[in-house]
Amino acid sequence: MNGPTSGDDRLVTSKRAEEDAAELALRPQTLGDFIGQKQLRENLKIYIAAAKSRKEALDHVLFHGPPGLGKTTLAQIVAREMGVGFRATSGPVIQKAGDLAAQLTNLQPHDVLFIDEIHRLNPSIEEILYPAMEDFQLDLMIGEGPAARSVRIELPPFTLVGATTRSGLMTRPLRERFGIPLRMVFYEPAELETIVHRAARVLKMEMAKDGGAEIAKRSRGTPRVANRLLRRVRDFAAVGGHSVVDAKVADEALSRLEVDGRGLDAMDRQYLACIAENYGGGPVGVETLAAALSEQRDVIEDVIEPYLMQLGLLMRTPRGRLLSEGGYRHLGVALPREQKRQLDLLAAGEPEDEA
Ligand code: ADP
Repeated sequence: MNGPTSGDDRLVTSKRAEEDAAELALRPQTLGDFIGQKQLRENLKIYIAAAKSRKEALDHVLFHGPPGLGKTTLAQIVAREMGVGFRATSGPVIQKAGDLAAQLTNLQPHDVLFIDEIHRLNPSIEEILYPAMEDFQLDLMIGEGPAARSVRIELPPFTLVGATTRSGLMTRPLRERFGIPLRMVFYEPAELETIVHRAARVLKMEMAKDGGAEIAKRSRGTPRVANRLLRRVRDFAAVGGHSVVDAKVADEALSRLEVDGRGLDAMDRQYLACIAENYGGGPVGVETLAAALSEQRDVIEDVIEPYLMQLGLLMRTPRGRLLSEGGYRHLGVALPREQKRQLDLLAAGEPEDEA
């Protein structure tokens, strides 16, 4: 189903590649090392200091935001700053109550249990999680049929750190059990520039100031993308015999990779062009687009759209996706008159969809 530029293969994908060991070396280890997300970082620092001074487990934390912005990294940092153990799992991996029980009963007091993609937890598992989060108790059914009985297991106080790209898909009771909800935002170019230069040092690459800026500007506001582009640029530089990566070398490499001046790749442009050419600029429903592009709806909603919206190239309306004037401009296509009227009407006050 997936074409060559789809989901997991695309260069600017911000989905995780599990095997990507190089990423591990690039992960910041402490809050002090962590670049960007200033407000979130400052708040987190206070909560951690307070919990430590009370000698309590940190309240449950929920990170939400697009993939690749540092949610997993921060979860690990929370454990390190608290001086406690860290265990990680993910929503789709926890199939049975026993899987969750095994994770929970193995925790030491104040440990961090990290659940990635927590919006994909099975609802029956969620129900076991509620009392575990609230009262540190686990209610389990043992056995089957008439011999079945429920047992209650006391858990040590722990911190659940959840990460989600789509907090809107989480049930309300689960969302409300997180005392510390934190929203991650796309990074500023200057922050990404610092991240790129730091990663270049780790990778022992010689990077000119303008080279770092060029990569940063084309990284979709996302550290994981920045690191990935950096490594591809390194390959091009090595083959081309450039010992220093400056803006020209970076631009050449990124252009060859079809990453344009604003960080959009072939798939992003195909998405925009599909709305413009096949659906008159929209509005068009996400399912229709997913089918037209042979792409999973999740990838469209989690990876492609958030950044296009951030750039103002795309709007989500109650009636579907709509290309903005900027979206047309990016494609180098003139805005049709009828579409302009529609956008003007929208600007004049039709409510936009948040979802
Ligand atoms: P998420 O869990 O949100 O998908 P990760 O925590 O796995 O994202 O981060 C992806 C990669 O980006 C990590 O390997 C890390 O190297 C890098 N990264 C994320 N945030 C930062 C940051 N603030 N500074 C430097 N590198 C970062």
